[in-house]
Amino acid sequence: MSPTGAVRGPAEGRAGWGVVDAPASLTAFGAAPTRATVRVVVQGAGRRATRALAGLGACWGLALVSVFIPVAHFVLVPTFAVAGVVLAGLRLREDRRLVRVSGTCPRCGVQQEFEAGGRFRGERALDCPRCHQHLRLIAEPAPGGRSPALQADRGPE
Ligand SMILES: [Zn+2]
Repeated sequence: MSPTGAVRGPAEGRAGWGVVDAPASLTAFGAAPTRATVRVVVQGAGRRATRALAGLGACWGLALVSVFIPVAHFVLVPTFAVAGVVLAGLRLREDRRLVRVSGTCPRCGVQQEFEAGGRFRGERALDCPRCHQHLRLIAEPAPGGRSPALQADRGPE
């Protein structure tokens, strides 16, 4: 058996991924908007395909193991098989992944980091961990154009 080895490090460029910091604002009902910074991972097609295949492989691996569990395999095998496809589909579409939000809560005024994750399309609902207020995160458009966090890398899709 020849070890295939792990794929090491991101390949920079079109098929790889890059990290973008972009200005954004946080708004809350009845409060003045505050400034925030979002960090977005822009994932090229290659990076997305790798993540999708990894998710698919993990789920199908679990499905394979579940074959040997009596009775439960009637449920587990199809569940993991379908979950793998769903997860892969989600990851294939994650062209812009929100990894970090830092800013000042417009309600309680505390400068902090907010929980983030998943696909980012320029707007996102957030909860302030301090005052538990519902906040809205909006990426700010760059002067004369779209937000840097939203600029597409011109792939067909
Ligand atoms: Zn707050």
